[in-house]
Amino acid sequence: DAAEVDFDVAVIGGGPGGYSAAFRAADLGLRVVLIEKDETLGGVCLNVGCIPSKALLHVAALKLEMEGLAEHGLAFSEPAIGLGRLRSFKNATVSRLTTGLAQMASKRSVEVVRGTATFASSRSLTVDGTGLISFAHCIIAAGSSPVRLPFLPEDPRIIDSTGALELPLIPKRMLVIGGGIIGLEMATVYSALGATVDVVERLDGLLAGIDRDAVAIWRKENAKRLGDIFLGASVEKATAGPEGITVSIGSSPPVDRTYDLVLQSAGRRPNGASLGLEAAGIAVDSSGFITVDNQMRTRAKNIFAIGDIAGDPMLAHKAAHEGHVAAEVAAGMKSHFDAKVIPSVAYTNPEIAWVGVTEDAAKISGRKVKTAKFPWAASGRAIANGAAYGMTKLIFDPDTHRLVGGVIVGPNAGDMIGEICLGIEMGADAVDIGKTIHPHPTLGETIGMAAELFEGVCTDLP
Ligand code: FAD
Repeated sequence: DAAEVDFDVAVIGGGPGGYSAAFRAADLGLRVVLIEKDETLGGVCLNVGCIPSKALLHVAALKLEMEGLAEHGLAFSEPAIGLGRLRSFKNATVSRLTTGLAQMASKRSVEVVRGTATFASSRSLTVDGTGLISFAHCIIAAGSSPVRLPFLPEDPRIIDSTGALELPLIPKRMLVIGGGIIGLEMATVYSALGATVDVVERLDGLLAGIDRDAVAIWRKENAKRLGDIFLGASVEKATAGPEGITVSIGSSPPVDRTYDLVLQSAGRRPNGASLGLEAAGIAVDSSGFITVDNQMRTRAKNIFAIGDIAGDPMLAHKAAHEGHVAAEVAAGMKSHFDAKVIPSVAYTNPEIAWVGVTEDAAKISGRKVKTAKFPWAASGRAIANGAAYGMTKLIFDPDTHRLVGGVIVGPNAGDMIGEICLGIEMGADAVDIGKTIHPHPTLGETIGMAAELFEGVCTDLP
């Protein structure tokens, strides 16, 4: 039926899921249309997510590192923060990448259509309510949006992550509602710029899902940097006044405090509502995620869903990976989602990266694991870098000694976790990792050393 439809594949949404799917499908010889409602391609990740946040976090990390350098014999005067310049650096980083995407689309003859796509049937869609584009396959990659807390007033001083990345001002006092990755990354940026940042988290710990020993290191390093952290506490009320946003925090005892800026980062929800999914016969679960099988197919077999709209974890690399699977299946290949693990990184200061089975999750589920923790206080490079507080922890199956998980805390943890991912995917055991010669002296070496420690081999190099 390919000749009778306008496109072999219609992709809805130009984020990391959508553009990866569109490019892969085009590379496999399919005729592809990519429909995006925003002005530029790249989705949340490139425009208002991963990339702009990392541009700001890079500058924040440099500033924080400089502050610690006086002890190492290099003292600077107080840095002057040029908010305008910082904003332009961040914007230039984003536009370089989004422009690159447009070029990559045109090189592959992917037709990019600007507008909001809505299903007319399981074989066709409209854009901005007009026209009718027919397709053999459709890949939904419409992403997610920040949850808005209904009890917060409308006020320019109450922002979400998109507003925070615009760097409206450097507040004196800021409240971050939600102690997850996005909230703490923004707390890192604003505290580095000079704000006193309080954090309120409903759960009894920050960064849910990460081992508590890793979070404890993070908290110790941030104890002086951040303001108060209210755990097991919710924001109950907020009122806007001339001197700021006064927030009632339901901690014990309850606290009323006035802030110049309040960031709500209390989660994201999938963007299913405006897609007209019923017209295509597609079901969503109780959280609004589109239900898919391991080939990313929805209930309508010619329609796929990938990325944030298809479920947790809401991460760009997961979206891109799923995009490739969907495109390949649409092209008739027998692909399916078979990644064993998906890594996560909090690009805070210090960074925390983790993957696979965590020690705490294993404890809760009753799964038997054995861990090897290598403290960076025993790493020559970490000491030389002023990062002796860090940690590398490997988690093994106690019977086979195969690697099943890992956690790293410290500078560049996110760059290092890839080795642990590869080890898990390849079925590596502790000997494989320990006997792999790592370059000395590096932070990455701590992965090999943790494995040696597990096998009871003394590591000779500091
Ligand atoms: P999105 O990137 O959300 O893209 C969906 C696109 O679809 C959007 O451009 C939207 O405009 C478009 N769209 C929606 N509906 C329609 C429609 N009906 N018609 C046409 N177009 C439509 N992830 C990481 O892995 N690493 C990070 O460091 C990281 N940092 C983050 C920092 C922040 C502040 C935020 C908010 C998120 C971060 N994320 C990070 C998460 C990451 O951005 C998302 O997981 C990723 O963007 C999901 O990709 P996606 O393709 O599923 O959807």
